[in-house]
Amino acid sequence: MRFGDYLKQYQPLVYETFKNSVANERIAHAYLLSGESGVPLLETATFLAKSLICDHPNPLADEECRSCLRIDHHTYSDFIVLDGKEGQIKKGDVQEIVGDFSKTPLESKGVMIYIINLVENMNLQAVNSLLKFLEEPPAKTYAFLTTENETQVLPTIVSRCEKLRMILVPKETVIEDSLKLDVKEEDAEILSNFYNSALLLKERSEEAEYLAMKTLWVDVLKILSADSRDIVFHFENVVIPALAGNKKKGTSSIQNTRFFLDMLSMAFKDAIAIEAKQPVALKTYDGLLQSFAGRLPHLGESLTEILKIRSILNTNINSSLALMHLILYITEDKQ
Ligand SMILES: [Zn+2]
Repeated sequence: MRFGDYLKQYQPLVYETFKNSVANERIAHAYLLSGESGVPLLETATFLAKSLICDHPNPLADEECRSCLRIDHHTYSDFIVLDGKEGQIKKGDVQEIVGDFSKTPLESKGVMIYIINLVENMNLQAVNSLLKFLEEPPAKTYAFLTTENETQVLPTIVSRCEKLRMILVPKETVIEDSLKLDVKEEDAEILSNFYNSALLLKERSEEAEYLAMKTLWVDVLKILSADSRDIVFHFENVVIPALAGNKKKGTSSIQNTRFFLDMLSMAFKDAIAIEAKQPVALKTYDGLLQSFAGRLPHLGESLTEILKIRSILNTNINSSLALMHLILYITEDKQ
């Protein structure tokens, strides 16, 4: 299944609206794609961008020609992505686009495209630079902005864009469709919390990095379910070094730590469900979660603490210290 097929099937409004704009040659200078966390905003923006430079559009991107592939590989000269997921976007980043796009296009298509993923994650100066650029866009320049939280985007930005709203596919549907693509049940249950598309979920489920994180997570749950006294040693010597990441591949420890904390909070949510005699979301891990729930004190408070630490990871805290603090808190019997 190609991404375009996903869009056609699950996001027909976005697909049809954009298809009609292309067919009628009424493409807006700027689009704002909005949707909840997990919805493939960046992937959709990338697909729409490809549709504008594809060698054989039909009428949208074929996803296999040379130009489409160069977008995938970030080697298409007149295409820039700023990703707010990787950190706050600053004025200098926006000015780089403005500078590059004030020159003549390098590629023969003569079209210049930029994506700003999670536009809510820009500082004020960056927003101001962007506003000016959106007000007077150079000819044949197209912007795709995305947001998971439209209320955090300045109305002056929103009003300059054509809005495309993406819907959240029910989690059960994502799991069902992933299983049809031969994703393992446990991976479908875990990753449906992060990906609202079976296609992307399948890709992620095959990545070595994810599989390593899953093993790390299962081992932590097992230790916490057995004798949690070993957990401090395990965190210091196994978990924290593993989360420090692979600098060569460009995965930062913040991204890894955030993902790990998300997985940990899923386990705690299920443990709380077990206490309340409710069904768990991670059905494959029911047995492990049962013993986990029975072992730990103050599950609710621990979950709050996990979410708190996750939310301050972006600031300059020492994430290793924060994790050590967290694991002591989770296992500490306050009686
Ligand atoms: Zn193409």
